[in-house]
Amino acid sequence: MQSYNSFEVAQAQVTAAAKLLNLDRATLDLLLWPQREFAFTLPVRMDGGETRVLHAFRVQHNFARGPAKGGIRFHPDETLDTIRALAGWMTWKTAVANLPLGGSKGGVVCDPRKMSERELERTARAYVRALWPHIGADRDVPAPDVYTNPQTMAWMMDEYETITNRHQPGVMSNKPLALGGSEGRRSATARGGVVVVREACRACGIDPRGDYAVQGFGSNGQRAAILHQEILGGGRLVAASDSSGAVYNREGMNPIELRNHKLRTGSVKGFGGSEPIDPAEVLELDLAVLYPAALENAINVGNAERVRARVLCELANGPTTPQADQVLFAKGIHVIPDILANAGGVAASHLEMVQNRNGDYWDEPAVLARLDDTMTRAYHAVHGASEERGIHPRLGAMLVAVARVAQACKLRGWV
Ligand code: GLU
Repeated sequence: MQSYNSFEVAQAQVTAAAKLLNLDRATLDLLLWPQREFAFTLPVRMDGGETRVLHAFRVQHNFARGPAKGGIRFHPDETLDTIRALAGWMTWKTAVANLPLGGSKGGVVCDPRKMSERELERTARAYVRALWPHIGADRDVPAPDVYTNPQTMAWMMDEYETITNRHQPGVMSNKPLALGGSEGRRSATARGGVVVVREACRACGIDPRGDYAVQGFGSNGQRAAILHQEILGGGRLVAASDSSGAVYNREGMNPIELRNHKLRTGSVKGFGGSEPIDPAEVLELDLAVLYPAALENAINVGNAERVRARVLCELANGPTTPQADQVLFAKGIHVIPDILANAGGVAASHLEMVQNRNGDYWDEPAVLARLDDTMTRAYHAVHGASEERGIHPRLGAMLVAVARVAQACKLRGWV
């Protein structure tokens, strides 16, 4: 099976959108590449006393519409190219959601599952010590991503404030509430995903209260499983997987109990009333809605033909390969592409930045109403563009996003 370089995939998506928009060569070249990239080493003291030198990156893809924005991942398979791809997807994500932000992403090559809290804290602080002149509320604002969380942001914000000798909560988003985080932020990625599923089902006449499954029962996957029933008024969670295995129950599983089981035991395996299945099978069940919420390239040419969900909501970044995309499109599966499906996280990050800037904090209903509105508009902008041209929703989303960013670059006189 072909293996994909995510950055090449991301660049091909930009080229396809640029072609439909008749963009000139200079604009395309600008959008194909990150505006700035940083690659650095972090010497981190381990608990045993030895020092390990970790490789780290921050890629700032585009600043035309506002400060760069995007998460930091701690993952053993991180490469500069995955971070470049993900930074670009942040630019398109913030543009699809029409937020006044650019796109960036960061990563540290390490395995947090094998590191202690203290080692993770030292890694987070070392990252900021290396990068601090290039981030900031008006420059580039990190957030959590794979294997990082609000605690990571708390350490990073503290390191940044210590170095700059100022209170600057807006330098990071998705912080703990006690440190200037926003109500509603932690579940915002999942909530945004379920909101666009609601809109997709309305637009396409699909009953969302059928069976659904989550591939990647991590923080976003768990929240989507719970919010699905809350927002859509029903549905049966029949399967869920994580990196250690998968469970299935035809009668449906209680998503809150499954989350509690995972929090207790560290995995979905062994959940009461469920049977173990091969994690690959989760993607191939007969479902109303499937949420891929793990990593890149989960749906590929090897399994796309067997995907039987009516709606595919990409909570993960880049879960579907380009060839698989064509197969899903031909099968009539309604794909809600990642840059739209998981934009709720960054949309709420933007609300957090606004609150930090004003020092004025909102209650949860105020945040959720704004988030719902942003996601609903974004869905219809993408759906409208895809229907009008008869194109895959991913290309429709890219069309909307690339047009907005290209316009900002042109208005600035860059190209
Ligand atoms: N890491 C999340 C994403 O990929 C959130 C980014 C943010 O809030 O800046 O969208």
